[in-house]
Amino acid sequence: MAQADFCSAGKTGATLSVDAARLRTIAAVAMMRETEVLPLDRALGRVLAEPPLARVNLPPFDNAAMDGYAVSTRDLTGEGPWRLPVSDRVAAGDTRSITLRPGTAARIFTGAPIPAGADAVIMQERAHRDGDMLIVSEAPRAALNIRRRGEDRRAGEPALPSGHLLTAPRLALLAGTGIALVSAFRKLRVGLFSTGSELQEPGSPLRHGQIYNSNRVMLRALLAQPWIDLTDYGILRDDAGAIRAAIRRAAEANDIVISSGGVSAGEEDHILDALRCEDATLDVLKVAIRPGKPLTVGRVGGALYVGLPGNPYAAAVTFGQIARPALRKAAGLSEMPEPWIPAVAGFDYPRTTGRREYIPVTWDQRDAMGRPVVQRLGRGASASLGPIAMARGIAVIDPDMPHVSAGQPLQVEPLFE
Ligand code: AMP
Ligand code: MG
Repeated sequence: MAQADFCSAGKTGATLSVDAARLRTIAAVAMMRETEVLPLDRALGRVLAEPPLARVNLPPFDNAAMDGYAVSTRDLTGEGPWRLPVSDRVAAGDTRSITLRPGTAARIFTGAPIPAGADAVIMQERAHRDGDMLIVSEAPRAALNIRRRGEDRRAGEPALPSGHLLTAPRLALLAGTGIALVSAFRKLRVGLFSTGSELQEPGSPLRHGQIYNSNRVMLRALLAQPWIDLTDYGILRDDAGAIRAAIRRAAEANDIVISSGGVSAGEEDHILDALRCEDATLDVLKVAIRPGKPLTVGRVGGALYVGLPGNPYAAAVTFGQIARPALRKAAGLSEMPEPWIPAVAGFDYPRTTGRREYIPVTWDQRDAMGRPVVQRLGRGASASLGPIAMARGIAVIDPDMPHVSAGQPLQVEPLFE
């Protein structure tokens, strides 16, 4: 008996709901612990491992929010208008320690430090000059047009929580608080391969019976994240030994291994047998999802293995529903992306119950409440690529719903890629 036949004993496993499969997959992966220190200009899109502490107050000193005149509201009591001599001029970058002479005003520009003794800035459009005198007709309230020292972030306090992605505005915040280096989780190592003896890469000629590899470029694109370090192992033929060796090699070198194809119960589907031979723990085998029912999640050595179905639309949906949340957790990300938007069905669809269904949709109209009225694309064939390529989102249909009727509320997951 060949090794692969031996390992194929007992292809069973309960069918899980999408939510249960997602939770099991997330539970099967450990959160990243290893960290590295990065300068801000190399940290875009990386995950904060420790909350960086503000080195200085932001802003570091009280400063003018407008071009205008710094005054003391104590000088502007009783009946206006008031006439104040302009006694000083302070521009951004002025490093003197200035005190406002009582009974006077200081010309001031946006970002300049507020002189001691001043407690409001009158914007220049609301002030009148008469030579060296400022004429104020309306007394400002205290603190008007002043950005307070530390009002954005206080020195010594965490500038951002850990587990957050470093986006452009977050990098700006860290820079503003004087942080030059951040502690980020090391990149998640992800290995990828496509299985299928029928696959050819675009650019090479196609023989009868062959198809072009759509999943490789799609999954590479979905995995192109600054927090992922991707190794692409290319195409594997439907050969038990080759697949087993590839799984072992990829599991040794990566935190997560993702493959497409070969997870159904056919004789040429070798992933499951290969995993069993490698003593994998199998956590998810069947999911009540359309498209994408056969899906294999397990652990091989120290790695999480996610075997996606071969049909490209099924691979895309199961990647988004099952693989992506696990990748995010493994990378140390604790922020959740917006899961869905409320929408309304613009179509009727009698359906077979039992599986949660993901339907590519688009829209060009909204209802009175501003919800997109979505139209279905395609006829639901999981091999079709046209519909998902043109979709603006994916409508999520409850497993028990016997039909979708025009006008009924739907949840739609927006597609950005
Ligand atoms: P499998 O999951 O291996 O049974 O594949 C299911 C279907 O998806 C078959 O029609 C395959 O030819 C097709 N398929 C598998 N992998 C890919 C791929 N990388 N690109 C496009 N189609 C694929
Ligand atoms: Mg196959």
